Amino acid sequence: MMIIIVNMNEICAIIDVQGFNLEEKFVVREFAICSDALTQTQELNPNKHWKNYSPKDQEIIKHCTKFVHGLYYCPFNDMEYAFLPHSDNIGSIIKTYYEMIATPEKAKLGFKNQFLRKILAEQNIPSIDLDNPIYEIPSIKIIEQIFGNNYHCGIHNKRPLRDPDTGKIIPFRCAYRKVSNLWRFLKNKQLEEMSQS
Ligand SMILES: [Zn+2]
Repeated sequence: MMIIIVNMNEICAIIDVQGFNLEEKFVVREFAICSDALTQTQELNPNKHWKNYSPKDQEIIKHCTKFVHGLYYCPFNDMEYAFLPHSDNIGSIIKTYYEMIATPEKAKLGFKNQFLRKILAEQNIPSIDLDNPIYEIPSIKIIEQIFGNNYHCGIHNKRPLRDPDTGKIIPFRCAYRKVSNLWRFLKNKQLEEMSQS
């Protein structure tokens, strides 16, 4: 059997995005990064009113806001005066963080989100897709069972729904929580491997 050795120490940071997977493109509303030096979330501005989309896209937008991540399509402030980076600039935003954090020894970004694969490839950023089964990283659902899911960052303005049976809040997806939990999981994995070697 071939043994694949994966060096997680090459990862300088974990990144994630949340947004709207519309017919023409994925529109980013939240970007988050977690590393040893920095943990941050960034809101982005699509700068296009949601009513200018097709009826199908409008349904996707409403569904994602209500049930998936609680992010409204438009920023809280008027789009023209919300001094947020444009959603289309997600590639250069990631590149800026990457150049600030990466070192020759830790030259890769880790991600667990298929929307990031294309963005990272366009920017020529070395990366590790943690969805690849060779890395044996559990699903986000399982990782949240370990570290909890009882918070999200301040960008999610929609009131979360409650489970009709238990009355408990159903947490929204949050890029900030996701990268924090993934980074914590990887750190614990590294410590376990070091103690075994
Ligand atoms: Zn968030």
